[in-house]
Amino acid sequence: MTGPRVRFAPSPTGYFHVGSARTSLFNYLFARGHGGTFILRIEDTDASRGRQEWTDGIISAMNWLGLTYDEGPTFQSHNAPRHAQAAEALWAAGHLYACDCTSEVVQERTKGNPIPGYDGRCRDRQLERGPTTALRFRVPDEGSVIVRDQIRGDIEFQLANYEDFVVLRSNGGVLYPLANAVDDRDAKMTHIIRGEDLLPTTPKQILMWEALSSSPDFGDVPVPLYAHLPLLVNEQRKKLSKRKDPVSVESYRDEGYLPQALVNFFSLCGWSPREGDEIQPIENFIAQFELSDVTHSPAFFDMAKMRHINGEYVRRLSVEEFLAAAQPWLQPELSEWRPTDYETPWAPEDFRPEVLDVMAPLVQERVTVLSEVPAMVGFFFRRPEMSDGDFTKTIASNEGAKAVLADVIAAAQSGTNWTSDALHALVAQIGENHGMNLRKSQAPVRLAVTGALVGPPLFESLEVLGRDEVVLRLTAALERAR
Ligand code: GLU
Repeated sequence: MTGPRVRFAPSPTGYFHVGSARTSLFNYLFARGHGGTFILRIEDTDASRGRQEWTDGIISAMNWLGLTYDEGPTFQSHNAPRHAQAAEALWAAGHLYACDCTSEVVQERTKGNPIPGYDGRCRDRQLERGPTTALRFRVPDEGSVIVRDQIRGDIEFQLANYEDFVVLRSNGGVLYPLANAVDDRDAKMTHIIRGEDLLPTTPKQILMWEALSSSPDFGDVPVPLYAHLPLLVNEQRKKLSKRKDPVSVESYRDEGYLPQALVNFFSLCGWSPREGDEIQPIENFIAQFELSDVTHSPAFFDMAKMRHINGEYVRRLSVEEFLAAAQPWLQPELSEWRPTDYETPWAPEDFRPEVLDVMAPLVQERVTVLSEVPAMVGFFFRRPEMSDGDFTKTIASNEGAKAVLADVIAAAQSGTNWTSDALHALVAQIGENHGMNLRKSQAPVRLAVTGALVGPPLFESLEVLGRDEVVLRLTAALERAR
């Protein structure tokens, strides 16, 4: 393939963050829209922080979101010999020098310096390499590095502001700017699309990249173009915080967001389609996506909008799709995946799938996220509990309400027609007999039968629940009121 080569290179250091999902998605949109290749590389060199479950989490979240990659996952840790070879090549070409300053000593010595960081003490000491020396990169004193950013334009960084940074620790560990540049170079990346937080490290990677060009083992590979994506910020316009904001893709999955809705919403975090509205299938976004249309300013991670978009997607599902999507909340025991720490609010053996034949479309109209489904249908599978407050206000202290309940019970027992239309007419008529409009007369019935004052359409629910069960519940409420 001759198109662009891009990669998503997460460090597995925690749950899969929505910012990572957005970065991954923008790489995906760009690659798919430009006949490119999308690669997943796990940057797992920091073994003390990386955990297998986090790597698995990244891969499964990407699969769930449908962000398929063409190569990988490759693992940065597997390239350690190549990174070491790069350090040797830089050493041989005179780009590095040995330094035996410990970080404590450097800190003490450079306190109050106008330019923070390492002061170049060992630059000309010609130290031998040994078990206590690190290797630092000799950053040119003058000149600049230009980052060719497809979103922000060319950004020039003055090298005078860069310290001679460590590329190889005394224990032999290669540092990130070198490992990252080597992997990107070897994989012939043409574009590096990643978060804005990494922009300050980009000049270091370009220095590494260019310094390796003269080595026969590495060769001259063109420096990639960059695209630094805007930060995601919360309502206070602060960077999304792992502690304060719900930020893991897993948490949204647990809440019952649909992957296609999240992908749609994440696409809008820093970008918007030129044509058509904001809710469109991903294929349309792929066709339109250009890095030059990504915004510079921080992108508001608007959770209200995310919910709205999810509700739209839920409503656009066919009933079969809706039921399949809701299965983890309805019958988790049968589903491949189940929400974390979730249990159905009914005993699993009391679940009756046929209830959903009638109720599914009605429920689908009324939920925004799938985790709202159990509360909507729970009363079909177990007797409801009414709160004292609701019960007193709507039934116990309301004579009209009690009269309605008694009349509905009597009508049910004398064989009134048990269809939703007939029940609707019945409750309306009974209400009228007691001087109540339909809204007033159905409230006690709804509360007694479902345990709540809001929920799916009442008369369909009564029909599905069945005459005997409805009579039982209405009678129980009336008795409790006596
Ligand atoms: N591994 C880095 C991170 O997760 C990203 C590196 C990159 O995209 O260049 O922050």
